[in-house]
Amino acid sequence: MVFQVPILWINLIISLKEIIMSVNLTYHGHSALSIKTNGTNVLVDPFIKDNPLTSVDLYSLQADYILVSHGHEDHVGDTIAIAKNTGATIITNLEIANWFSAQGITNVHPQHIGGGYTHEFGYVKLTHAHHGSSLPDGSYGGNPCGFLIKALDTTLYLACDTGLFGDMKLIGDEGVDLAVLPIGDNFTMGPKDALRAVKMIKPTLAIPAHYNTWPLIEQNAMKWKQAVEKETTTKVYVLQSGQSINYKNNQDDSIDNLFIET
Ligand SMILES: [Zn+2]
Repeated sequence: MVFQVPILWINLIISLKEIIMSVNLTYHGHSALSIKTNGTNVLVDPFIKDNPLTSVDLYSLQADYILVSHGHEDHVGDTIAIAKNTGATIITNLEIANWFSAQGITNVHPQHIGGGYTHEFGYVKLTHAHHGSSLPDGSYGGNPCGFLIKALDTTLYLACDTGLFGDMKLIGDEGVDLAVLPIGDNFTMGPKDALRAVKMIKPTLAIPAHYNTWPLIEQNAMKWKQAVEKETTTKVYVLQSGQSINYKNNQDDSIDNLFIET
């Protein structure tokens, strides 16, 4: 009995360390994500208020950084309100960064496609995306992008809004642990092309996004999961809005430490 208390404490400390040393990703529906890594909160494409898949209060969202992939309203979303509320730094392409500056947001970090920078939470590189990028007021939003993020020995690829392109293989060459891919079709890759994307990127884990927000992009994510897991070694996690995963890279491609919480 005397020795049980320290063992419990040790187990608790190990568990807490596992969580702290992992990348935590929460899906808010559509393409909106919260990523917590290295104690830093990173929001991605925070389309919250008008997002039919989430009822989260945008003023409850924590953000040290906000990544914006392109200028469309379902991705710029509530970035301005959240940036003003949290003081978060917006990471996006130069044109959109300038647009946010003109809206009175001073904390912006412009990058551009192919360019990477080591922020306090990790390295972020802007990747190609084939899509549009005009801003809500019609301003020019440069080229759309995806994000390659390297933090805590984990590499995440957020394809954001894009069609399939062959250079996804080059992104896969970087050793992607976790890929978030659109499957909605109509505006982005559909399930078949997203499966082809998985075959090029070869991530350990894939999460579908940008579907079921509206009837136009309705898809059966479980069917996509079955197809991907039948034809590749990639594991698919279909996250409901509000669900999170903790991902810890074990350096051996195992995902034993991955669990889902709601
Ligand atoms: Zn979109």
